[in-house]
Amino acid sequence: MSILVTGGAGYIGSHMVLALLEKRFEVVVLDNLSNGSAVSLERVAELTGRDATFIEGDIRDRELLDALFQRHAISDVLHFAGLKAVGESVEQPLRYFDNNVGGAVTLCQAMQSAGVRRLVFSSSATVYGEAEVVPYHEGLPLGVPTNPYGRSKLMVEEMLRDLGRADCRWSIALLRYFNPAGAHPSGRIGEDPQGIPNNLVPFITQVAVGRREALSVFGNDYPTPDGTGVRDYIHVMDLVEGHLAAMQAIAERPGISVWNLGTGRGYSVLDMVHAFEKAAGCTIPCHVGPRRSGDLAQYWADATKAERELGWRARRGLEAMMADAWRWQVSNPAGYAS
Ligand code: NAD
Ligand code: UDP
Repeated sequence: MSILVTGGAGYIGSHMVLALLEKRFEVVVLDNLSNGSAVSLERVAELTGRDATFIEGDIRDRELLDALFQRHAISDVLHFAGLKAVGESVEQPLRYFDNNVGGAVTLCQAMQSAGVRRLVFSSSATVYGEAEVVPYHEGLPLGVPTNPYGRSKLMVEEMLRDLGRADCRWSIALLRYFNPAGAHPSGRIGEDPQGIPNNLVPFITQVAVGRREALSVFGNDYPTPDGTGVRDYIHVMDLVEGHLAAMQAIAERPGISVWNLGTGRGYSVLDMVHAFEKAAGCTIPCHVGPRRSGDLAQYWADATKAERELGWRARRGLEAMMADAWRWQVSNPAGYAS
């Protein structure tokens, strides 16, 4: 049996493929390369000495999915494929709903007709909306996401819950990621955003490597210890290990399961800058700019449910996260195009 990884040529997906190959799983990757790189999979093969089967194609292509499920005996689907840029989702909402929601519908239809009913979905802490109680725990009511990207994640969660209610043969994990960062310790695969990075850590590493002049800190007047925004940053290798644990758990757990994947600790923007400076031995020029619209002051995960039920917890700290992010960036200054 094989594991299908949609979006497996992207940032988190490529690390997932590596972890699966290392565990001796057979892996099929489906990715349309809209934001991923086939080079990431070549490097994964180099690192693991094993190959995933790569299919370049779209999760909205039902014919392709039917042929894929017919050709490969798939036991589980890890569904990472999706668009993820918040600002872009505000400008192009239809594209986001088509890709993220329409894509998930088509994928589930194809799974259902192939009799594959184990699915791990990449959700996000954004589904908690503007909850003011921290840490966020899975029992909180779903919130109102502030942008179309977040709403697309919430809509897919709701659809999957309905699917699980309608047919108890489905086993579905909704994994709510907090802030993934870092890279594989080899420095061979990592995060390669197109254009100006939206996220903090890739922005910092691009400043350090000379691709950007300075970091703009989005506001320093939040009600947090140093006034800058606080988030729960989780090492991408911890995150993919959480998926392995969830995949194993749902094999014996039909229905819908929800787990936060975070560390349970919050760090401010300035904490992150200082941790990076220490890891990389350089100074990051920063200036304080206005708040970014839609940003919350602070949130982090209650990560105890995953620990209790999956026996998983994040093991890597900020130091490793920053050292690994830096190793990737400095050895690939222009990402996979280097
Ligand atoms: P990414 O953009 O690096 O990877 C997504 C991959 O999906 C890309 O390789 C892209 O080419 C592919 N893809 C997109 N639409 C597709 C389609 N229609 N058909 C086939 N392939 C398609 O993003 P990532 O950071 O690796 O995120 C993976 C998943 O995790 C996404 O669903 C994202 O929304 C979710 N997530 C990410 C974060 C984060 O901060 N990185 C946080 C929470 C949730
Ligand atoms: N941030 C910042 N400058 C940047 C990018 C992000 O100050 O160039 C801050 C942002 O306001 C938030 C934190 O860094 O407090 C994490 O932002 P990111 O976009 O990485 O993740 P989010 O939590 O918004 O999904």
